[in-house]
Amino acid sequence: MKYEIQFKYIEGLPKKSYRNGKPEGIVMHETDNEKSTIWNEIAFMSRNFLNAFVNAFADKDNIVEIADPRYICYGAGAVANRFLMGIELCHHKTKADFEASFDRWCFYAAAKLVQFDLPVIDAEKTGKGTLWSHAAVSKHLGGTTHDDPHDYLARFGYNWSMVVDRVTKYWNELKGVKTENSLPTGKVYAYEVYQSKSVGFSTSTYLSGFNDYYAAVDFCRRWDSAFVKEHNTGKTVFGPTPAIKPAIDVSKYPTLRKGSTGQYVKTLQKALGGLVVDGSYGSLTDTAVRAFQKKNGLTEDGIVGPKTWDKVING
Ligand SMILES: [Zn+2]
Repeated sequence: MKYEIQFKYIEGLPKKSYRNGKPEGIVMHETDNEKSTIWNEIAFMSRNFLNAFVNAFADKDNIVEIADPRYICYGAGAVANRFLMGIELCHHKTKADFEASFDRWCFYAAAKLVQFDLPVIDAEKTGKGTLWSHAAVSKHLGGTTHDDPHDYLARFGYNWSMVVDRVTKYWNELKGVKTENSLPTGKVYAYEVYQSKSVGFSTSTYLSGFNDYYAAVDFCRRWDSAFVKEHNTGKTVFGPTPAIKPAIDVSKYPTLRKGSTGQYVKTLQKALGGLVVDGSYGSLTDTAVRAFQKKNGLTEDGIVGPKTWDKVING
């Protein structure tokens, strides 16, 4: 670890569970207090935690975790508190001190995302992701009105994208990622897949279906390399997640026609819908096949060969 995280947990903090049992991201705050030191801030929070507390503070010399990140903090309003943890950046006067504190602040965020097996996904513009400014929480989630930390960062010529870059840099270091453009973006994709209901597998399938995150990434890549490529160019990271299904090889499926029977007829009847699934290719199935062929620009002959099979199964 580049920096030591000091653990000085405040006693008596509430231990409420996150909505999914663990944080799903982190909110980056600044203290908005010119005079206060990190130790003043922590002492203040120890006395007032019923109103508000975050998980950690960073200044030019320290990263101090004061609240167990396995439980919710009260840092960024009712909506965010249910799934996001938070860290405060303490104020400094000089650019050198600011940079030292900024680096620790970003390092902590990266370390926690790694701890909870989360990727770095900037939520600033989309309101979806793992790395949040308090301003983005106010804008996208509500329940709070603060707009930190942008103004404070700007004082030193910094902006939000520099936060994302720095957190990503440390995330990669902590994960031992070698190529900047491969795994993290793959992870973004896997994360979206994991989040998405439209691709047909749920969170629990994701968790049980792969040995680890990297296996999931590889699987996703094989699914749709074009989409991953698009991610790697950074164009549409948060575009709509396409409904992706691996294509099924239908070349070995038997050709079916009126009079055919058996399991494949059942498969056909089920896929076409609106038919009794009895495995017997009769007049009703024939009518349904011809209608399907017509609708899809296929030869309207009631014979289910490779082209019709492909359309029926893979769409
Ligand atoms: Zn804040």
